[in-house]
Amino acid sequence: MLVVMKSHATEEQIREACQKIESMGYRAHPIPGAQRTAIGITGNQTEVEPGTLEEMPGVQEVIRVSKPYKLVSRDIKEENTVITFAGTDASIGGRTLAVIAGPCAVENREQAFAVAERVHAAGAQFFRGGAYKPRTSPYSFQGMGEDGLRILAEIRDRFGLRIVTEAVDHETLDLVERYADVIQIGARNMQNFSLLKRAGRAKKPVLLKRGMSATLEEFLMAAEYIMSEGNYQVILCERGVRTFADHTRNTLDLSLIPAVQRLSHLPILVDPSHGTGKRNKVTPLSRAAVAVGADGLMIEVHNNPDRALSDGIQSIYPDQFDDLMRQIRQIAAVVDRYVPNPAQANQQSSVPAAARS
Ligand code: PEP
Ligand code: MN
Repeated sequence: MLVVMKSHATEEQIREACQKIESMGYRAHPIPGAQRTAIGITGNQTEVEPGTLEEMPGVQEVIRVSKPYKLVSRDIKEENTVITFAGTDASIGGRTLAVIAGPCAVENREQAFAVAERVHAAGAQFFRGGAYKPRTSPYSFQGMGEDGLRILAEIRDRFGLRIVTEAVDHETLDLVERYADVIQIGARNMQNFSLLKRAGRAKKPVLLKRGMSATLEEFLMAAEYIMSEGNYQVILCERGVRTFADHTRNTLDLSLIPAVQRLSHLPILVDPSHGTGKRNKVTPLSRAAVAVGADGLMIEVHNNPDRALSDGIQSIYPDQFDDLMRQIRQIAAVVDRYVPNPAQANQQSSVPAAARS
């Protein structure tokens, strides 16, 4: 159920409607939109009786949401969700494409700083790097843990990059929430429902990667888990699914992007690094992702990929990342998006007024 408030409904009327919903034993999720606020109702096992709610002052109508996901749906919020980061130009979901770049894992201070310096200079606004790595083999490098998080925090201080890093369980989520700007939930945890609920209680945005065999509906339901706990800052990320193809590690499903955008107001990014697993395919698929309308990219970059402790084969060199940025900058313009160019940053503002959304 969804309570649509009138466009001129007051704060007081919205609060009263929420209180009414909670007094009925449900949870109320007020989601402000450009025209009006809608209040999602969750926690109901059976149909909510709309009668009393419909009569309340400021209420326009009470509508049934037929889809299994409610808060992620465009029914509750027509316009795109834009996630902003206080004190910076960085955003995810607006006209400016969000570029998240960095190594698969933080391996040591020198490596992380060397990559951060290059991706920052090329125009990325976000730095990625795992401090906790979900590895197929228990004998593979598992990440630096909290020491890695400290390095990431230093990188934010030094370069002003926002930090995206993965939490693999409840314990690491507590730590990641403390150090990072965006909490990543990986493909292997997309249906770890208790972790999703914990992420839903976090005070930071959550980047949710699509499970390796997840359908669109399963993906959106995973996002719904996070939102149902009250965290509405969710970013989706397509990272490829398992198919019979053996020319790539996964099959990057770019058709998911317009499919998600039809159904949901949440931003959707593309990770062509895990999506292809091959260095030489990362730039072509990045171009395609921007052309198809993705809200941004997540790219693995390493200063010495041959010696990387994880995912070296799919990590691109910093020089290749420079080229990638140059190319997507041009493609972005065709689809009315914008990629910041630090080379021009000192001439006036780095973001044109129209792109500040
Ligand atoms: C990652 O981003 O480093 C990662 C492990 O990705 P995924 O969860 O998509 O495999
Ligand atoms: Mn990786």
